[in-house]
Amino acid sequence: MLTAVTDAAADLNRYPDMASVELIDHLAALHGVEAEQIVVGNGSTAVLEAILRALCEAGDEVVFPWRSFEAYPIAVAVTGATSVPVPLTADGRHDVDAMLAAVTERTKAILLCSPNNPTGPTLTQAEVERVLQEAPTDVLVLLDEAYIEFVRSPDAVESGPLLATHPRLVVLRTFSKAYGLAGLRVGYAVGRGRLVGGIRAASTPFGVNALAQVAAVASLQAGPELMARVDDLVVERERLVAALRRQGWDLPDAQGNFVWLAVGDQAGVLARAFADAGVLVRPFAGEGVRISVGDREANDVVIAVAGEYAAERPRR
Ligand SMILES: *Cc1c(COP(=O)(O)O)cnc(C)c1O
Repeated sequence: MLTAVTDAAADLNRYPDMASVELIDHLAALHGVEAEQIVVGNGSTAVLEAILRALCEAGDEVVFPWRSFEAYPIAVAVTGATSVPVPLTADGRHDVDAMLAAVTERTKAILLCSPNNPTGPTLTQAEVERVLQEAPTDVLVLLDEAYIEFVRSPDAVESGPLLATHPRLVVLRTFSKAYGLAGLRVGYAVGRGRLVGGIRAASTPFGVNALAQVAAVASLQAGPELMARVDDLVVERERLVAALRRQGWDLPDAQGNFVWLAVGDQAGVLARAFADAGVLVRPFAGEGVRISVGDREANDVVIAVAGEYAAERPRR
């Protein structure tokens, strides 16, 4: 993959393929859909923003779960629409009832994040089907699957069959996580052809740069090796989750490449304890701490620090 990128760097004076034809063809084959059902962009965040820009104007509303991906409220704000964040349940899952209840005649889209960043649980097939059946038909349903490659839960939503039967479903994917290309910025959406055409028309020209196109194609071709690395990470995740649960932590189902410790107002304290031990974690003030699954050694440090914290504070 690196070789492909350094080779391509010899042609930096050239414009990239404006339509990302080769990359889109590979993605269409991967998903078993037509090329016109895929739109790529400068990370899935940019694709999300293009979708919301095509859809929303001031006064419109976008419903999403919260706490979830930080880019959601920002992408909504860019369009002038209003964010309608709906609190997660106590176990870090989407509150589908509350999300459906939050829909009004101004709602243009519902965002779903599976697995949810930063808490970890996926949505189930039944939950997504329910949203698709019960939300008004003119509301777009956006399913963000940034961490799909790490999902092992048999209950997790499978978006492929739903895409075939629900024309208002759009699935967002990224090369930033399992494919390790966060710095190059490549993401995409899969949906119904007419809808995707509209999103393409509203997207910035040359949305994916030349090196990013080359790297994304090369990493799709290296898919089996990359997925073997993901498998190793999942083994470590399961070991980490099991160790933390033995310490008494009540963890939400961890289906991404991270675990979530819901320590509320102790988030800063706990994050400092991890930092002192040499592990950088992400504190969310008043809510909790997200810890990325690392290599075995780093995870052992996480287990040790979490164990000490748990021993000092039996009630969590
Ligand atoms: C990282 C992440 C993305 C991907 O963002 P990119 O713009 O593709 O890097 C999207 N959604 C969620 C939930 C994420 O965590």
